[in-house]
Parts: sequence; structure tokens; C-alpha cells
Amino acid sequence: MESVKIFLNESEMPRHWYNIQADLPKPMPPVIHPGTHQPIGPQDLAPLFPMGLIEQEMTQERYVEIPDEVVDIYRLWRPSPLVRARNWEKALGTPARIYYKWEGVSPAGSHKPNTAVAQAWYNKQEGVKRITTETGAGQWGSALALACNFFDIECKVFMVRVSFDQKPYRRLMMQSWGATCIPSPSDHTEAGRRILEESPDTPGSLGIAISEAVEEAAARDDTKYSLGSVLNHVMLHQTIIGLESLKQFEMAGDYPDIVIGCVGGGSNFAGFAFPFMRDKLVDGKDTRVVAVEPKACPTLTKGLYRYDFGDTACTTPLLRMYTLGHRFIPAPLHAGGLRYHGMAPSVSHLYHEGLIEAKAYHQNECFEAALGFARAEGHLVAPETSHAVRAAMEEALACKDRGEAKVIAFNASGHGHFDMGAYEKYFAGEIVDYAYPEQKVAEALADLPPID
Ligand SMILES: *Cc1c(COP(=O)(O)O)cnc(C)c1O
Repeated sequence: MESVKIFLNESEMPRHWYNIQADLPKPMPPVIHPGTHQPIGPQDLAPLFPMGLIEQEMTQERYVEIPDEVVDIYRLWRPSPLVRARNWEKALGTPARIYYKWEGVSPAGSHKPNTAVAQAWYNKQEGVKRITTETGAGQWGSALALACNFFDIECKVFMVRVSFDQKPYRRLMMQSWGATCIPSPSDHTEAGRRILEESPDTPGSLGIAISEAVEEAAARDDTKYSLGSVLNHVMLHQTIIGLESLKQFEMAGDYPDIVIGCVGGGSNFAGFAFPFMRDKLVDGKDTRVVAVEPKACPTLTKGLYRYDFGDTACTTPLLRMYTLGHRFIPAPLHAGGLRYHGMAPSVSHLYHEGLIEAKAYHQNECFEAALGFARAEGHLVAPETSHAVRAAMEEALACKDRGEAKVIAFNASGHGHFDMGAYEKYFAGEIVDYAYPEQKVAEALADLPPID
């Protein structure tokens, strides 16, 4: 009997992360200081991040060793399985072979602990006592709470107030792992107090929560800040996903023709796809690599490739990326993790160079695909992940039409057990499909910093 799950032994887990910077045909544009418009240096980031992570942010080294203590924690749920979706292939009637990498096995239920654990470790090495961060629906906050718990670091999470009130379960997870989670805007920071004074009933936003977390980290010597996506070091840590997958494909005697991941800030996609991109860039493999986003937040497919701020309050350095503008206000989309206005500069660069593809889907078609997947394979994926499921399904159906037995691989970034409210709305026919208006993209241009 041919196996369905391809497991690596713990001893075969990769011991290095892969840094795509080393293999890019053209170097990425520099990160720029908003005041001087000059490339930033390590010291500019030092108030917010430990030097170990700043070095990783800027390194050109191809492989970076994973510290032993990080490996030990990874081993609690890694290596994660690569699964051949045989039942789903049958249900779709496709000759394609479909594989998914299942990141829902982590304690927080997504890929996010892969970087949270690494970030907590590098902070610990430099004596950092506290870490602040922001979270929307709570995926990132819970992953960082888990990681800080392992290294005895205090963790303070500013959670967008509307989610804090409406989605108590991830907040309770953070509390279970010993983190403090407070609704943002809060009276703990200047930024929060200012906003509360202007609009006491504000639901909050990710942009505001970032401003609060950054302000507190910058103001205190014992505190650093942590970001769950977008930055190079985050993409680097996530490559454990793709590196394991490469080994698993070798064990299966197969190799993907099409590699797919959903994109919010870009980290699960990059983590899965970049090791395959290495084979494409260096060994000339002819792999199609596809990033999938919501039509309500179409950063790659409708955004502009420009320098922009990472947050609403314009406090971060400027990143060259696809952006919908830092003032972007997302529609009430269920895939909370895909609502960011920007995109990882590395993913943006690859897209701009024509080395990866991008697709956008509406919410309903993604939930429909996720249910088909759940009925065939059992797993109820996160609303974010459902975008990758939809793209894999469409590729599989195209194979059926053309009678082609392609190999399709997607990253199943997380489970949806805390998102059943979204599934409930889908069953009730209450999910609304929004497409972000072109007009808004044009308006955002006016707000971008005038740098080319
Ligand atoms: C946060 C999240 C995402 C989106 O973030 P990326 O940085 O683009 O990966 C996707 N899937 C799940 C399950 C998430 O929690």
C-alpha cells in the first residue's frame, strides 16, 4: 500500500534555515529611513530588535544554523507531515497528484510558532526580559505567547479591541501560556491614549496596535518588539516548512510542478515556497510558484510596488513592497490573517521580477473549496488557508480538463478550530464577497511617501 502521509524522523529535521537573499538574480531594494531617505543600518533597528535578529534581517548567507534549543522546541510538533490528498483527488476526479504540508499540528494551530520560537530564543540570548507585539484575530499573539512561555520571557500582546471583545478563545490561549493580552487602543501608551481621547468607541486596528507595541518597546530598555510576518528574518525562520517538504518529496519519489501558498504578510508562503524557489533559481527547475490572496485585500494583484510604511501611524522604516497604502482599511474579511496592506519585500521582489505568480479569490469560493477538502481529507482549515485550498483545487480541475497528471503542492498553514464562527456564517449564506475598488488603490497613491 502506498503511504498517504510522508513523515520525516526527528533526526532528519533540517538543521539550517534557507536564506533566499543569497540566490536572488537581482538584490532587493534597501529598506529606507523615512527621515533621511537613506538605507537604514543595524543601529536604526536596535531599539526594537535584538542584534541576532537584525543580523539575520540583513545577512546574505545562504544557510543559517538553527540553534539547538530552537530545534528542541520544534521537535514538540515538527517535522510536520506532508500528506498526499488521495481522497480529495478522487473527489475532484483529477489525474493530478495533490500534496499538502500540514502546519495545523503546532500547539497554536498554525505555522506562526516556527518564527515565534526562534525570535524568543534570540531575544533571550541578549537578556531581553519582555516582548511586546500586536495581534488581530489572535493567531500571532498566541504563537508568541507560547514561545515566550518556553523561554521565560514576559509577553505583552496588544489585541485589536473588536477581536478582543468578539473572539475570547485566542486571548484565553495567550493567558494560558502566561502572556498579558490587553485591548488596543489602550491607556498604556501615548498613541493609545491619544486615539481613545479622539474616539473612545473605536474598534481599534492592526495599525494602531502596532504603534502601541512599538512605542512601549522603544521606551523600555528591558523590552523588545516582535513582528510575525513581512520581515526577512521571519521568512527565513519559516523555511523549515519547505526544507522539510523537499526531503519528504524526495522520500515520496515525487516533485511538485506547482507550489501554492496563501499570502497575508507572506511568511507561510515564503516558508514553504522559497526552498523550491532555490531549485528554480539555481538548478533551473521549471516550477510554477503561486501566491494566493483575497479579492478584498488584493495586495499583489491590485497594489502598487512602492516604498511605504509598515504601519498606519507612519513610525516604521520604509519598505519597497506591493501595498494598498498604509491607510488601507480592510473590509470585514474572515481571513483575518490576510488583511495586511503590504507584503513581504522578498515576496514582492520575486513577484515584481516575474518569478512567482499571484491569484486572488472571493471568500465564498474559498469556503466552498475548504468544505470539499474537509469532507475528503478531514481537516477544517483556517479561512486564510482556504485561499490556498481554492487555488490547488482550480489547478487540479484544470489538470482534469487537460488530462494532465501534474503534481500540485500547497501549504496548509493552519486549522480553523477557532474560526468556526466564520464557517457558521458561510452555512447561513451570510458571507459577503467584497472586491477592493480600483478607485481606492488610486487614492492610496497620493498618500505614499514620494520616493521612487
Ligand atoms: C497569520 C496566518 C496567515 C497569514 O500570514 P502570512 O504571514 O502571510 O503567512 C495564513 N494562515 C494562517 C493559518 C495564519 O495564522
